[in-house]
Amino acid sequence: MSLDAKTLSQLVSTVARFVDERLIPLEHEVAEADAIPPALIHEMQDLGLFGLTIPTEFGGLGLTMFEEVQVIFELGRASPAFRSAIGTNNSIGSQGIVISGTDAQKQRYLPKLANGEIIGSFALTEPEAGSDAGSVRTTAIRDGNGYIINGTKRYITNSPQAGLFTVFARTDLDTKGANGVSAFLVEADTPGLSVGKPDRKMGQQGAQIADVVFNDCRVTGDALVGGVEGQGFKTAMKTLDRGRIHLGAVCVAVAERLVSDSLRYAMTRKQFGQPIAGFQLVQAMLADSKTETFAGRSMVEETARQRDAGGLVATEASCCKYFCSEMVGRVADRAVQIHGGAGYMVDYGIERFYRDVRLFRIYEGTSQIQQLVIAKNMIREAGG
Ligand SMILES: Cc1cc2nc3c(=O)[nH]c(=O)nc-3n(C[C@H](O)[C@H](O)[C@H](O)COP(=O)(O)OP(=O)(O)OC[C@H]3O[C@@H](n4cnc5c(N)ncnc54)[C@H](O)[C@@H]3O)c2cc1C
Repeated sequence: MSLDAKTLSQLVSTVARFVDERLIPLEHEVAEADAIPPALIHEMQDLGLFGLTIPTEFGGLGLTMFEEVQVIFELGRASPAFRSAIGTNNSIGSQGIVISGTDAQKQRYLPKLANGEIIGSFALTEPEAGSDAGSVRTTAIRDGNGYIINGTKRYITNSPQAGLFTVFARTDLDTKGANGVSAFLVEADTPGLSVGKPDRKMGQQGAQIADVVFNDCRVTGDALVGGVEGQGFKTAMKTLDRGRIHLGAVCVAVAERLVSDSLRYAMTRKQFGQPIAGFQLVQAMLADSKTETFAGRSMVEETARQRDAGGLVATEASCCKYFCSEMVGRVADRAVQIHGGAGYMVDYGIERFYRDVRLFRIYEGTSQIQQLVIAKNMIREAGG
């Protein structure tokens, strides 16, 4: 459903105010504590941020892709950990159900994901299956009217907080590739499911990841997403498509924040008797970051519009994720440079963004995987 222009603009400015008044002042504290205060999570729930993409009939805001990226352009100006808190419920943790779930699965889970009562996690990666996601070794063996799941999932975002996991497991042991994989909805308190200690990582403190281990974990037949075996990988890939545009928007938002912080610093920091913004070599860095950020925003908005119009945007979604995640890395690097020694100091927060944005080139498909997707689609479309 599309919001009218006034409602969208109200939503976007409410989120912008929330970011400026509530999130940005708490960035340092959240990074130090490696946790987001529960009160802030409640405020996010009240704003409807957990259900941006979930259809209105299930209690979400049902935003179009274009509307979603407008909200993310604002929310993403704060530390990426805040976006991560609502990220899985809006993309990889819920869209498998929205796209491929049965009516009963939608009724049971989507309202709770939309209001943030439960956190949804997406459990695809394994110790031996990362970029080659179709090679997952976790098994789901039929047993009576259910399945028994065994295996280990790695680096699963929000798993320590999750109430529901979308788990990808091999149901057909004779089929080696992606076609033998099915998706299951497994509630966190199911016996045989355990979540490891949160991993220590380079950045994005406040957003937690951990291993999720399945040890003879029994689920009933109605946990199978869509009620059909062998569709799991297709579901995962459809989910990732929307997520790639969303992540492109997150990267643009962080880049815009860094451009504005860098400009403010350059205009106030004086050397050689004048603001450093007066030096053309600093201006070049500002101009390059501004230009690349603008290019990223334009790509993301255009791809979102095309998707809303019913276009097939797999290639463009990968272009967004690839360009924007690499772009924000360059912008963050220049932001450190423009801030000089201050850019390297924890108190200024610029080094934190520098570490935070590194992840965007790795998860939900590395840059190399995006390059492969883009080129493969180009060759296929050219009849190769
Ligand atoms: C903080 C964090 C959060 C995450 N959250 C989740 C989550 O919620 N759910 C989930 O399922 N997963 C999650 N992941 C996993 C993430 O998606 C994977 O780490 C990622 O897909 C890469 O897999 P890998 O780490 O096994 O690297 P590998 O696949 O081993 O890749 C290593 C290197 O080889 C390159 N490479 C691999 N194959 C090729 C190829 N064919 N051609 C060229 N180069 C190639 C890669 O690009 C990379 O540079 C998360 C990871 C991190 C770090």
